[in-house]
Amino acid sequence: MTNIAFIGLGNMGAPMARNLVRAGFKVSVYDISLPAVRALAEEGARAAGNAADAVQGADVVISMLPASQHVRDLYLGSGGVLEAARGDALLVDCSTIAPEASKEIAAAAAARGLAMLDAPVSGGTGGAAAGTLTFIVGGEGEALERARPVLAAMGKSIFHAGGSGAGQVAKICNNMLLGVLMAGTAEALNLGVAHGLDPQVLSDIMSRSSGRNWALELYNPWPGVMESAPASRGYTGGFGSDLMLKDLGLAQQAALGVGAATPLGALARQLYQLHQQQGRGQLDFSSIKYLYRAD
Ligand code: NAD
Repeated sequence: MTNIAFIGLGNMGAPMARNLVRAGFKVSVYDISLPAVRALAEEGARAAGNAADAVQGADVVISMLPASQHVRDLYLGSGGVLEAARGDALLVDCSTIAPEASKEIAAAAAARGLAMLDAPVSGGTGGAAAGTLTFIVGGEGEALERARPVLAAMGKSIFHAGGSGAGQVAKICNNMLLGVLMAGTAEALNLGVAHGLDPQVLSDIMSRSSGRNWALELYNPWPGVMESAPASRGYTGGFGSDLMLKDLGLAQQAALGVGAATPLGALARQLYQLHQQQGRGQLDFSSIKYLYRAD
């Protein structure tokens, strides 16, 4: 049986780890939040006291942390994964981080003889819970084939974007587009509502017209339009605005690196920066709606 270490049990990591337990893998879990570890232990995972404990004897190590620095510390820090992992373990980081950070950590892993993939995901917390995530993978094809059965227990689409860091580049492009689409969707809904339209009716119209998009159809930012969306539960859970701001920043850095023009991405980053400054960084990213309408 494959032993898996899963580190980072937040909005995404917890349901992903849960699906691995349900698929019959032996899963050791660690998070700096003790309640998060306890919740998974109650569902059949082994609770580890720290990252090194979690990766003891693991065939596959999976991490799902907020940002580049967390991932660097986890893998490269003293007592970290590179020190503690078995010599033949496969390392898979599913966090969305800077491509340069992914490459740096994968190179350090390779120096120890360990294969590492960057495998950021798309599909949101709903996709994580349903096991229908899209994995966007960077790294060696051979390592991806080793990881495939494990990824398949958490997602339904697995793409090989290219070498180390390529998964992150593709994910960053996707999230830049998502940030633009979410802000645009909130803006359009606000315009209609300000003219007295029912947001549900307007959403139905645009969902069957040329403005249709994922944010409108599956993650509607207007409260009450979509029961399952974070907007209808006070913008809790989901994908934090702080994390979207991080990803839009990564997109700007990536654009600077190659001299690509990204004016809409830059504007979306500014909108999310304002939103964060208004104290809403912890809310789901669809709460960008508050920039347009306060109530
Ligand atoms: P989150 O903030 O809900 O969870 C992060 C978890 O990591 C928390 O439980 C935190 O306690 C834990 N953590 C932080 N530092 C740690 C450490 N040193 N050791 C162990 N645990 C540590 O974030 P999330 O929404 O689950 O997102 C995780 C990553 O996935 C981010 O990079 C995000 O951009 C990306 N992502 C999120 C979504 C989404 O819809 N939420 C979708 C796709 C990708």
